[in-house]
Amino acid sequence: MIRNVRLIGRDGLWDIEVEDARIARIVPAGEGTGDLLADGAGGLASAPFVEPHVHLDTTLTAGEPRWNASGSLWEGIAVWSERKQSLTRQDVIDRATEVLRWYAANGVLHVRSHVDVTDPGLVALDAMIEVRENVRDVVNLQLVAFPQEGIVSFDDGPQLLEKAAERGVDVIGAIPHFEDTREDGVRSLEIAFDIAERHGLLLDAHCDEIDDEQSRFVEVLATLARRGGLRGRATASHTTAMGSYNGAYSYKLQRVLARSGINLVSNPLANLCLQGRFDDYPKRRGLTQVKEMLAAGVNVAFGHDDVMDPWYPLGTASSLQVALVGIAAAQLTGTAEIDEAFRMITDRAARVLHLGDAYGLEESRPASLVILPATSPYDAIRRQTRPTHVISNARLIARTPTTPTHLTWPDEPPRQITFTHPTAP
Ligand SMILES: [Zn+2]
Repeated sequence: MIRNVRLIGRDGLWDIEVEDARIARIVPAGEGTGDLLADGAGGLASAPFVEPHVHLDTTLTAGEPRWNASGSLWEGIAVWSERKQSLTRQDVIDRATEVLRWYAANGVLHVRSHVDVTDPGLVALDAMIEVRENVRDVVNLQLVAFPQEGIVSFDDGPQLLEKAAERGVDVIGAIPHFEDTREDGVRSLEIAFDIAERHGLLLDAHCDEIDDEQSRFVEVLATLARRGGLRGRATASHTTAMGSYNGAYSYKLQRVLARSGINLVSNPLANLCLQGRFDDYPKRRGLTQVKEMLAAGVNVAFGHDDVMDPWYPLGTASSLQVALVGIAAAQLTGTAEIDEAFRMITDRAARVLHLGDAYGLEESRPASLVILPATSPYDAIRRQTRPTHVISNARLIARTPTTPTHLTWPDEPPRQITFTHPTAP
């Protein structure tokens, strides 16, 4: 039994009874029975955070063999190709597992990771398949076969993608804007959809991650998804070119995307840093049209993309940090929009991973949840609280005690500062 928690969208305090690793009953506080799994102390219980987009095979390599001094995408690629020389199975397993520990400690229990498969040995993929198995009891890890250097424009690209599907990835990737020609880009998406459909897999492409307003592969991806029946099973990640599309085309695109049912994943941490590098002022920041696409009815989620690697040197694998930066980047500062940003790292991200009944804080769903020392999603994002409790499949896997700051102020007795305020929602 989990005692004394607030729930999103419900007034009052509640107890959550757990049976056979599932949520059996949610009852008013004081009415719950059973052994105590966690005392929420009035904190906010939520379904766990969901990471819809990260590259675990490159994490924790920032500074190896050298730092990305300019911070550009291009120097990042150059640094990575140097680091890639020393890539081994164990190296990938150790770094990916460590970041998954960070994710779990932050209450992120579902993670979709892209893995570079433009390597004839598929070293990183085999390592990540092993990691997926090792962490299964704690974190649900989805793997995307990500052709970093292209499908059509890379030697044996289609065969490597097919091989990755056979080895057991969950999702097929693509990178159409990186292919040599526009036609190659379209062809690469057709190949990716064909493999995904034949193997019954999901699809998630790095799509239009460039400032070029002529990069328009998201319309191709959406149309292939709608016609081929992948709809909600297909995702376009990054889509930063959308930040440069004109109004007339954006309007048309909203309809195309809404009709297709595809998901979008915006990665504000990395793309605020990587895009706009060829601009003088005014300088673009290459973010997808988050607010507009949400308004058009498109499912949009926020992802981390990189944790301490050549493209983004910071990060602690915290979804709440991603949401905070996403709110600032996409100008989602209305209180309803801040609540929406919380959904973009929970429910909406879960839709990207196609989790269905395997996700949600509801009776009969898995007993996986976080308890935040906060009164609301707004409060959790604003104060960047770490979960006091992380529960995965009915097991308490992480605890973080809250520690207030003790402040001594002139002419006052020492007091505790918690950064709370009565006017906060
Ligand atoms: Zn990415």
